[in-house]
Amino acid sequence: MKGKQGMLVVDDAEINRTLLRQIFSDSFEVIEAANGQAALEKLRTRDVSIVLLDLVMPVMDGFEVLAYLRCHDTFVELPVIAMTTQGDHDGQARALEMGASDFVTKPFNLRLVRRRVRNVIAQVENEWRKAVQAAKDQQLIEMHRSIEEDRLTGIYNRETFYQRTAALLQKNETTAYDIIYFDIEAFGVINDLFHVETGNLILKTAAFYLQAAAGNLGTCGRLENDHFVLCLPRGSIPADMLIEGLDSTLQSLGIMHNVLFYAGIYPVENIYLPVDQMIDRARFAERQVHGSHLQRVYTYDAKMREQMLHEQMILRDMEFALQERQFEVYFQPVYSAKEGKILQAEGLVRWQHPSEGLISPGLFIPLFEHNGFIVRLDRYVWEEVAKFLAAEKEQYGHVTPVSVNVSRLNFYNHGLLDFLTELLRRYELEAWMIQLEVTEQSYAENPKQIAQAIAEFRERGFVVIMDNFGSGTSSLRVLKDLPVDVIKLDMRFLQGGDEARARAILSGVVQTVRALKTDFIVEGVETDEQVAYLQSISCDRMQGYHFARPMPQSAFWKLLKEEENGKA
Ligand code: C2E
Ligand code: CA
Repeated sequence: MKGKQGMLVVDDAEINRTLLRQIFSDSFEVIEAANGQAALEKLRTRDVSIVLLDLVMPVMDGFEVLAYLRCHDTFVELPVIAMTTQGDHDGQARALEMGASDFVTKPFNLRLVRRRVRNVIAQVENEWRKAVQAAKDQQLIEMHRSIEEDRLTGIYNRETFYQRTAALLQKNETTAYDIIYFDIEAFGVINDLFHVETGNLILKTAAFYLQAAAGNLGTCGRLENDHFVLCLPRGSIPADMLIEGLDSTLQSLGIMHNVLFYAGIYPVENIYLPVDQMIDRARFAERQVHGSHLQRVYTYDAKMREQMLHEQMILRDMEFALQERQFEVYFQPVYSAKEGKILQAEGLVRWQHPSEGLISPGLFIPLFEHNGFIVRLDRYVWEEVAKFLAAEKEQYGHVTPVSVNVSRLNFYNHGLLDFLTELLRRYELEAWMIQLEVTEQSYAENPKQIAQAIAEFRERGFVVIMDNFGSGTSSLRVLKDLPVDVIKLDMRFLQGGDEARARAILSGVVQTVRALKTDFIVEGVETDEQVAYLQSISCDRMQGYHFARPMPQSAFWKLLKEEENGKA
């Protein structure tokens, strides 16, 4: 009898059970029990939707059954109709108080019993429907809220900020507004150094502060991560005051780390410009000062527009450029000054843009490091280098090692080592032929992970170069903690200021590095004088315009050929 609801009839008088079964077996699966205890047994094993319960029974009476049901989660909602004798008002009242849904009296008025049962079932179903509806409503409310709000901080999320800001600007057409974009310097480091809860606390506190600043006059939202945005009437609160306020609010949290916010301002001119584009401009302004420490706020101006358009072009064209092989690897040799011969080279990427001409990596690498495209570009460059090496090996039977730049983002991407290993296999190369340049800054940003990756590279036989040594704030720590094969120092870091001091530092560093049995390359060498000095402190490996500029593959090939011929 599938589909019928179960009805448990509990009565010690068999005649009553029989009667009730006759009445209800059309519409219910009737289950019978002769006393309370038997009833509980049935309840545990059968599916029951309603109980007709005699109150006076041997072994275990109806009240005990009711008491049991009402304190067990599974049965607390189960509807019970008590069966009493006529005139037992006391029993009827007690049964209702103990949670019976209704009662009927014996001897039964069959129509009345039917109606009461139907009522109770309808009521239950109604309750259930109401409960479902209420849950759905609540879910809708929550959903609505989470659609509008940023989950972590409770302020507007990106979409809501767009909508509310557009509405605000259009409602108050005569008021001038600023869009202010906020970003924390190296927020990832905070999450690494401390528990993620600390990062969350910083974000929540900042959100609270900015929300209060926006008040009723403006809008405030979190776009993602540590990126916040405000829209405020121009001149209401100067952005550097906001930054100061954020500083002191965050300091009061007592976190042992400087949390530095930077801000970019876009003064709104055209209120019908999509809000995301307004934010792009504010963000662009912020990027001009991000990380500078000296200046923390920057305002978007017309000059930046040109620059932004150029960047947009780069981002628009990058994918196509990679497919069309517009990226080209240039080679810059590293010389032994003493012997005047090429020891190795560095592969440096260039973009041969069809309409813009040759674009230098300084213009696009930072953008690709920002959007992640660098991971693909780097792999492309490594492969180009591998092809070059394979050709050289084929032609001359030996190769000049070439170093490639490994952007920090590669370390967040699994499969870096596998990719390189596969490259070696495909082009039949050995690990020492492709050297890996890792910048000191990327190490400083993520010491643990990078140290581990570097150890793995070296284990596989790759030569690891610490690039841009001395440019960061933790050079000594790098020397102490991070074993690499070669340290590369840029001459230009030492330029300006007192020449004698610069030389003293350089010779000290060279000595230290040598004591660590690490090799040394000085790059950016431009003058005879520099060469002479470097030689005087027994520094022999040099890279720089004095020897050769980065050159296209064909020119480098020619250069290698000349060397080869010179040898012969
Ligand atoms: P870097 O790795 O420090 O490369 C050295 C830069 O100094 C190169 O600039 C090179 O052309 C330049 N240079 C070399 N000798 C001299 C000199 O004597 N004087 C002067 N003034 N400059 C010299 P380039 O090729 O413009 O590259 C700039 C930066 O772009 C590189 O700095 C590197 O960080 C990045 N980069 C270049 N190619 C790649 C690449 O394939 N992948 C990644 N991730 N980054 C790359
Ligand atoms: Ca380099």
